[in-house]
Amino acid sequence: MKVLLLGGTGEARALAAALHPEVEVISSLAGRVPDPALPVGPVRIGGFGGVEGMRRWLVDERVDVVVDATHPFAATITAHAAQVCGELGVPHLVLARPAWAPGSAIVVGSDTEAAETVTGNGYSRVFLTTGRSGTLAFKGVDAWFLIRAVTPPDSDTLPADHELLLSRGPYDYDGELALLREHRIDALVTKNSGGAMTEPKLRAAESAGVAVVMVDRPALPPGVRTVATVEEAADWVRAKTAG
Ligand code: NAP
Repeated sequence: MKVLLLGGTGEARALAAALHPEVEVISSLAGRVPDPALPVGPVRIGGFGGVEGMRRWLVDERVDVVVDATHPFAATITAHAAQVCGELGVPHLVLARPAWAPGSAIVVGSDTEAAETVTGNGYSRVFLTTGRSGTLAFKGVDAWFLIRAVTPPDSDTLPADHELLLSRGPYDYDGELALLREHRIDALVTKNSGGAMTEPKLRAAESAGVAVVMVDRPALPPGVRTVATVEEAADWVRAKTAG
């Protein structure tokens, strides 16, 4: 049995490790990051070429099962996989890590709404952690930004007044608290990514009295089968293998 594992997350790497070599798993990465953390086992890198390309790939490679363990905000690839698997009748599972409880965060529906919230509340020193594609909405906002991303955003998407911090998690509470204090941050802007790797910034923000603006997750395609943990996903794949 051959499994396509859509990845780019720690959970996807953990699932590949849990199944390899017992199950044939091909991990797929988008190819955005120049030196990605690689899972064990075979890996393909790069887009499939939309819905058509993915359909062709699944048929040509005789894929039996697809597990989508991409990031909760990777909505396009998730929609493509749900559509193609539905059309081909390929069993399909989404591994969606639980969302963070927003607590006292201001929850918004998009980067644009987050930018409006920063302006509306007069935040002046903002820790922006929505990733390289999340800076454009803040370009015209009159505030200073500490922008943390894995790879540099395009220069024409950046707000005028900013400092760029290139780094990759996981992060710890003490480091996050020090960063907020050092830069005298008054608001943290984050996606509701969920998971433990980047969660300490939320606790640090609470301790430091920093406001949190949290972008809510995009909805999953209707009717998809989901699990919350790597263990549940591994069990589901093994059950498919046994069946
Ligand atoms: P996206 O907007 O959902 O996808 C855009 C396009 O990128 C897709 O249409 C597909 O191209 C290609 N793609 C995305 N994930 C792929 C994968 N795992 N394998 C092959 N092609 C893939 O995705 P995104 O938000 O840019 O995320 C890209 C990757 O980074 C994902 O693997 C995701 O897990 C990871 N990631 C994303 C975030 C985030 O905040 N969005 C954070 C951490 C990690 P084609 O249409 O040509 O097939």
